[in-house]
Amino acid sequence: MRRAGAHTTPLAMNAHYRGRSHLADQQFDIVVLGGGSAGYATAIRAKQLGFSAAVIEKDKLGGTCLHRGCVPTKALLHSAEIADVAREGSHYGVQSSVSGIDIAGVNAFRTNLVEGKFKGLQGLLKANGITVIEGEGRLVAPNAVQVGDDRITGTHIVLATGSYSRSLPGLEIEGRVITSEHALELQEVPKRVAVLGGGVIGVEFASVWRSFGAEVTIIEALPHLVPNEEESVSKQLERAFRKRGIDFKLGVRFQSVTQDASSVTVTLEDGTTVVADYLLVAVGRGPATQGLGFEEVGVEMDRGFVLTNERLATNVPGVYAVGDIVPGLQLAHRGYQQGIFLAEELAGLNPVVVEDVNIPKVTYCDPEIASVGLTEAKAVEKYGAENVTSYEYNLAGNAKSSILGTAGSVKAVRVNDGPVVGVHMIGARVGELVGEAQLIVNWEAYPEDVAPFVHGHPTQNETIGETMLKLAGKPLHAI
Ligand SMILES: Cc1cc2nc3c(=O)[nH]c(=O)nc-3n(C[C@H](O)[C@H](O)[C@H](O)COP(=O)(O)OP(=O)(O)OC[C@H]3O[C@@H](n4cnc5c(N)ncnc54)[C@H](O)[C@@H]3O)c2cc1C
Repeated sequence: MRRAGAHTTPLAMNAHYRGRSHLADQQFDIVVLGGGSAGYATAIRAKQLGFSAAVIEKDKLGGTCLHRGCVPTKALLHSAEIADVAREGSHYGVQSSVSGIDIAGVNAFRTNLVEGKFKGLQGLLKANGITVIEGEGRLVAPNAVQVGDDRITGTHIVLATGSYSRSLPGLEIEGRVITSEHALELQEVPKRVAVLGGGVIGVEFASVWRSFGAEVTIIEALPHLVPNEEESVSKQLERAFRKRGIDFKLGVRFQSVTQDASSVTVTLEDGTTVVADYLLVAVGRGPATQGLGFEEVGVEMDRGFVLTNERLATNVPGVYAVGDIVPGLQLAHRGYQQGIFLAEELAGLNPVVVEDVNIPKVTYCDPEIASVGLTEAKAVEKYGAENVTSYEYNLAGNAKSSILGTAGSVKAVRVNDGPVVGVHMIGARVGELVGEAQLIVNWEAYPEDVAPFVHGHPTQNETIGETMLKLAGKPLHAI
């Protein structure tokens, strides 16, 4: 393997955003195609380890997460939370109300935030001495990416081209049938919205629009909302959404949609219809790999995803892949972790593989959902029912949660006389608790290991402490 030093070009040492005309036939240790979460994380860690690194980006550094995903949607959700808090002020003795949503103001908050983070990210890559090459790249050889007239070669090539919003066969994205990208750019608060897909993106937008006053109907083909989560969590979300006035149709498939100048009519397979101002299609994200030369170079693919081994190497020596194009969870922090992992792997540090199941997941609707590890059903499948114990702590027993006025729970699943293998939470702000949960699961801690540690009072963090105390056989506030 080549390391930096001998191989570092003058360009790689200090350049940033060099014009392409200066770049013809440049050579780097690591060339990353795509400057989203996974791509830039690879480059940063690679540079720290002494490699020369270039990132090729056709749009904006930061990719989906920064510009069209995690960050702008969470900004939107925060505006939504403020609307809810203001609406509920009187419950807390505060005279407040919502006289309207200034969508231009909401959008300005979001875009300013993203712009600030974008500047920060550009500075970060510059400070790390990473060369950013602007332009659309195409893999033309196992060690080369063509960008316009320039051939950028690398000892290692890392594919990180990310993902796009998918639709269903025959469902055209046009007019009032929109994806999350369009939803972020809407210049109005819709009065009625239909959301196709009750997964993460669907429930987050449903939550925002409801907080802004819209009538929302979610259509989900599977029997539950957030179907990848613990079933009890899905059921609690359904209860909470019902209470919030969010309608949903479960276990029924989309059939067709028609639209005119002011509305869409969605017909479902059971013959019912939903009329709305917009239909948000949130049925998942496909890999952005088409026409980029991957197959031609011999990279093994499956339905557009790039296949890798668990150490992120493709079948073509010297070519690797990270992020959303690698089958599995499509999350920004998985991309960061894979980027760091891959750079360390290439540096011969033999990093530890983190399985997808042990990557924390957060859904930022109201109430929030956060989880890591196996659901109870999966734990039973893996270890046998007789070897698994779970406990679900009700947030009603937690003072801070009561102050926040949230219902919900923390459920932990353990192997008997063994480690905690899953934690599943729902309730306001539980996303902030997943840090401890993922340490417990990834360090394979026993409840008895965690139980003696102290959780500040009153915090929602105590709910994890209480759950561990109970599973360790010494409950405090749990029944
Ligand atoms: C609405 C929404 C909300 C989300 N919320 C969250 C969240 O809260 N938390 C979370 O963890 N994840 C969230 N995600 C998922 C997260 O955004 C993705 O998992 C993450 O961005 C994937 O990173 P990536 O680097 O693999 O791909 P991307 O971020 O898509 O980056 C790929 C980059 O490659 C560039 N590119 C593609 N092809 C080429 C080419 N040929 N030449 C040059 N450049 C190219 C693209 O322009 C892009 O910048 C959300 C996604 C969406 C859509």
